[in-house]
Amino acid sequence: MKVTEYYQTSVQEVMKKLDVTQYGLNDYEVRGRQKKYGYNELKEGKQKNIFQVFLEQFQDFLVLILIVAAIVSIFLGDMDSSIVILVVIILNAILGTVQHARAEKSLNSLKEMSAPVSKVKRNGEILEIPSRNVIVGDLLILEAGDSISADGRVVESYSLQINESSLTGESLAVDKVANTIHETELALGDRKNMVYSGSFVTNGRGAVAVTSIGMNTEIGKIAKLIDNAKEKKTPLQVNLDKFGKRLAIGIIFICIIIFALDIIRGREMIDSFMFAVSLAVAAIPEALSSIVTIVLAVGTQNMAKENAIIRKLPAVESLGSVSIICTDKTGTLTQNKMTVQEIYTGEQFFSSSELEPANPNHKKLLDFAILCNDSMMLRDKTIGDPTELALVKLGHEFEMSEQLIRGLHPRVGEIPFDSTRKLMSTVHRMGNRNVMITKGAVDELLPRISRVDSSSSTIITNEQLEKINQANTAFSNAGLRVIAITYKDVFSSHISEKDEQGLTFVGLIAMMDPPRDESAQAVADCIEAGIKPVMITGDHKITAIAIAKQLGILKSPDEAIEGKEIEKLSDRELKNKVESFSVYARVSPEHKIRIVKAWQEKGHVVAMTGDGVNDAPALKQAEIGVAMGKTGTEVAKDASAMILTDDNFLTIVKSISNGRSIYANIKNAIKFLLSGNAGAIFVVLYATLFALPAPFLPIHLLFINLLTDSLPAIAIGLEPHNKKLMKEKPRHINESLLNKKFVSQVGFEGLIIAAVTIIAFQVGLSTGDTAVATTMAFATLCLSRLLHGFNCRSEESIFKIGIFSNLAVWIAFLLGFTILNFVLINGLFEVANLTSNQYLMIYGLSLVPLVIIQVRKLFFGPAKA
Ligand code: ATP
Repeated sequence: MKVTEYYQTSVQEVMKKLDVTQYGLNDYEVRGRQKKYGYNELKEGKQKNIFQVFLEQFQDFLVLILIVAAIVSIFLGDMDSSIVILVVIILNAILGTVQHARAEKSLNSLKEMSAPVSKVKRNGEILEIPSRNVIVGDLLILEAGDSISADGRVVESYSLQINESSLTGESLAVDKVANTIHETELALGDRKNMVYSGSFVTNGRGAVAVTSIGMNTEIGKIAKLIDNAKEKKTPLQVNLDKFGKRLAIGIIFICIIIFALDIIRGREMIDSFMFAVSLAVAAIPEALSSIVTIVLAVGTQNMAKENAIIRKLPAVESLGSVSIICTDKTGTLTQNKMTVQEIYTGEQFFSSSELEPANPNHKKLLDFAILCNDSMMLRDKTIGDPTELALVKLGHEFEMSEQLIRGLHPRVGEIPFDSTRKLMSTVHRMGNRNVMITKGAVDELLPRISRVDSSSSTIITNEQLEKINQANTAFSNAGLRVIAITYKDVFSSHISEKDEQGLTFVGLIAMMDPPRDESAQAVADCIEAGIKPVMITGDHKITAIAIAKQLGILKSPDEAIEGKEIEKLSDRELKNKVESFSVYARVSPEHKIRIVKAWQEKGHVVAMTGDGVNDAPALKQAEIGVAMGKTGTEVAKDASAMILTDDNFLTIVKSISNGRSIYANIKNAIKFLLSGNAGAIFVVLYATLFALPAPFLPIHLLFINLLTDSLPAIAIGLEPHNKKLMKEKPRHINESLLNKKFVSQVGFEGLIIAAVTIIAFQVGLSTGDTAVATTMAFATLCLSRLLHGFNCRSEESIFKIGIFSNLAVWIAFLLGFTILNFVLINGLFEVANLTSNQYLMIYGLSLVPLVIIQVRKLFFGPAKA
């Protein structure tokens, strides 16, 4: 027998089959079905468990060499060394595992914070729930910009259009209808009354009864396991890995030469081998990439606390290079709390409180503003778009209830608002007439108006049109957003954009959306940080100029341009002119991508905000796509690198500041690792060159590696935010972390550390006891590296950034200092007994790099390139 598919079944039958009413499922059914069907999610690849992660730490080439060295030590009867080697290996593995677990945890929590949500109707109420909780039988409520989280049969459609490209490859949106289709064996793309998980709504609205979820959806059937377990590295990590490998080869080469020289000079083969291996272990900075992971993880966690959720890790690195922020106005720079201030109707101006509902013209304006409107004010909450809410609120001031008015004149047709058209139309039954109300941007509506409402509707004169235009300009000059209300009688409830002509003018409503208190300061901070803020808005040019001026984004009106002027420019012309504009008005989302590209071609790194479905391409194109957490659509969030949970411009500026700080911390931690390791290599090279005894025992080198590598480096990576970073110009995106300045600093600092260690070594040698010499060299290298941690906290002196402002560095130092002294005092690891003078010598010499570098920073400022 042939199975009837959902698309061949009528809406009523589908609802019956799924056992759901027009009010959606109730709580009891939800609980039962959740148990029966499970969660709406695609199966993920397994994440590694902690033991696997621990084992992985032993797969490193260096660790393998160390294990060989430990075995060799056992055979040589040098138990001390083999124990230290094992402790080094195990502690390093534990540290690596803890870092991995911590990073994983914070990245998972970030993922959870940006998990998709769906709107469903349950118990007659529309709820927003995590998409994984959607179940079979749920009524999904869809609007433009929603991602579709499950497969379902359309039960209601108002110009509903869906982009199914992820499933069918077809990039054009498809119209969806609720009608039953009688044809058989239709391909997915032809099932016009079904929607599929993984697609998204580009236009209109509708409702869908969910027929399958999770792995049973069409996308679930074709999707292989999503391999979330696979870790993706950021560009910096990839570069550091490459650098680390090259460095390791260089160091191994040096070690081989030292090994050969030792043999030639008649040292025991085994001793020479152990020494060379230990030197390699001490000098190769194996922690480079994992330092980046941990600093990024901690950094993104802090950013989430400050309302910025990072969706793509590499974005954190690019944040520090952002030189242009293209930002929406409404809600990002402004509060998105619209209140109606002024009205123009019957050729007269009124303040909002001066309206008189007894006046039929005023009543009509209010009624129509409430009817052509999807917002609602309930007792304890408001639903809908702030522009429309302002109109509903205006009605409430005159005790007009939107439910009552909408009940009296039910909506029978509509073309939803869309920010490209900047218009919205609805059709209502009024007595035996069908009336279409169209509201929207004045400049869009003026050419479509042919009549004006007075006592009866009459042909509009040019003079009257000019007056409307003037009223619009006056409102816009005051920074107000203006909506025109018009209408016309139509025959059918099925309207199309062609019907939005020959309209009758009723009035203009102008509303205020005050800038956020913090926006002007954030704009000033941006400019100081060498970042240009650019406002992109759908609003009128004059309104945009007024607000931009208040905020300091624009100085002269010449810096503003309109969408229709952009259309006249070729891409090359736009690129040539792009730097002269800081405000783009009456822009459609399609213009945004051209603006981003023009800036990028000028060599800039762009952060671009967006909320609507049509913003997705521009969000993807920008280096940092920033979606609005509150008002943004799921599609915009999905396309973005970062989500603002408070939709606030200030948060973007803070994130850039955090991005700069995270990058600086990574750089400083790496500088610490490399300069200390360079110090060790220089000392050994010195001793080899001058045919002195080995300055360290292998066990000392391993100990230094254990104590003075990862922990202080991580502590440096946790350095709190330095405000000074926002006074610098953005870092060039292609600037390598390991540039000339960096390498010369590493070399210089390594040399100072080496110098004091060599002095200590020579002083030790002068006693005639090599054991004292190696002990002094070992202790001085260890301590000077620990103290060097303070140097590496910042480009600035610690006296400027606060000696105690990074407790982690103190903890790492004190821990290392205590353990070192414990070893020295108890004569562990073959250290010699030292006199108190020798102790003083070690402490004094170890302080020298700190003093020299701090004095240089304090008096000569950060090193110049
Ligand atoms: P911004 O880019 O600054 O965030 P926006 O994206 O909110 O602005 P749009 O929502 O595209 O801008 O609005 C553009 C114009 O469309 C407004 O100036 C207004 O005239 C008109 N408009 C806005 N909302 C509606 C609505 N719900 N119904 C009809 N017209 C509207």
